[in-house]
Amino acid sequence: MIKDDCIFCKIANGVIPSAPVYEDDSFKVILDLAPANKGHALILPKQHFDNCFSMDDETASKVFPLAKKVATAIKEEFNCDGVNILQNNGEAAGQTVFHFHTHIIPRYKDDTATITWKQLTTEPAEQEKLAASLNERISK
Ligand code: 5GP
Ligand code: ZN
Repeated sequence: MIKDDCIFCKIANGVIPSAPVYEDDSFKVILDLAPANKGHALILPKQHFDNCFSMDDETASKVFPLAKKVATAIKEEFNCDGVNILQNNGEAAGQTVFHFHTHIIPRYKDDTATITWKQLTTEPAEQEKLAASLNERISK
């Protein structure tokens, strides 16, 4: 499905032109308009999915192998010290464009990008309970 009013549907399907970093039948990879660092790329599926929850398993299974390829190219191109591969689902998680996309961000020691969180403390018994509860959901 392609959504008429979706900017990433338009970019991924060539309605809005862009210089592709990579393209195949299922994906277009582009450079982010407002990058965290030079070379920050976005993997866009050509089909519209709001987020990971609505994505089919076959498309989802292709995302990480492609992310690895793009990350490898970025590492070679920029000789960066590290690469973030990240993907936001929902406004609360920082998603601003509601067409699934994966960020590939070159990182450097002491760069200005901030991808961080305040670390909470944990309690072993609670962690065990949480893990078991999630395990039950995943396994059913
Ligand atoms: P999110 O916050 O949803 O995970 O990331 C959305 C990303 O899309 C942002 O990094 C933003 O800079 C990028 N972006 C938004 N609109 C456009 C656009 O029209 N073209 C490109 N290339 N990137 C965009
Ligand atoms: Zn879309």
